[in-house]
Amino acid sequence: MPFPTFDPHRRRAELSALFAPLDPITTPADLDLALAAIAYASDEHHDDETRLLWARWAYQAVNQLRVPTDPDAIMISSCYQQVLSSQGLTVDAVTVCAARLHAVEASGERSMSTRHSLALALHADGQCADAHRQMAAAVRDRAGSDRLPQLIVLLAQARLFAGCGMARTAVRMLYRHREQFSFLGTDLVDIAEDLTAIEISHPRQGCEQRIPGPGNAEQRLSFWRQHLNAILTADQHEARR
Ligand SMILES: [Zn+2]
Repeated sequence: MPFPTFDPHRRRAELSALFAPLDPITTPADLDLALAAIAYASDEHHDDETRLLWARWAYQAVNQLRVPTDPDAIMISSCYQQVLSSQGLTVDAVTVCAARLHAVEASGERSMSTRHSLALALHADGQCADAHRQMAAAVRDRAGSDRLPQLIVLLAQARLFAGCGMARTAVRMLYRHREQFSFLGTDLVDIAEDLTAIEISHPRQGCEQRIPGPGNAEQRLSFWRQHLNAILTADQHEARR
């Protein structure tokens, strides 16, 4: 028997047929439909208004049917936040993520990834000081997590520093945690491009922490390559001793 394969085009057609006759204002809350709606809304192929209406409907529906810490509620909240962020609705994205963090904290569950997400949402909204506070808390929370999530949150903090023009603070932080990056090998150098990009893409408007970054894009890339290489080499040097 052939292994069943997921066909995204067929899935898109099925979801479009399911939602075309429905109205998000009058459709009553239903969990299966909410899960289908968030998949439909997360598909960038659809127009912004349709995506926003169905993502909001799914979010409201799951909150009527499930407690906020239910895995389906967490997943739908995360996807709704992504839809909001992708449309530049940064204030709403912060509100949705802050509500999720509140629920996760109240239940006593680990909050690192939600806090990380809130930090990015705040950063995108230009609330940089709060973003840095949340990211620092996520970094403190990382102990006990697997290696990869720890690495992701440390790199996210570096991106936040870089985004606000605090490239040297990012370098010092990465250097302090260099032993965590050793398993990445030369991939670490590719991260330089990402760090360079965020320095340019970060919204300068509303950023109360922004200080001018060093030189042009090429100089920034060489800055990051050089420092990340040094972090990697220092670790290898120490491992050989
Ligand atoms: Zn900033």
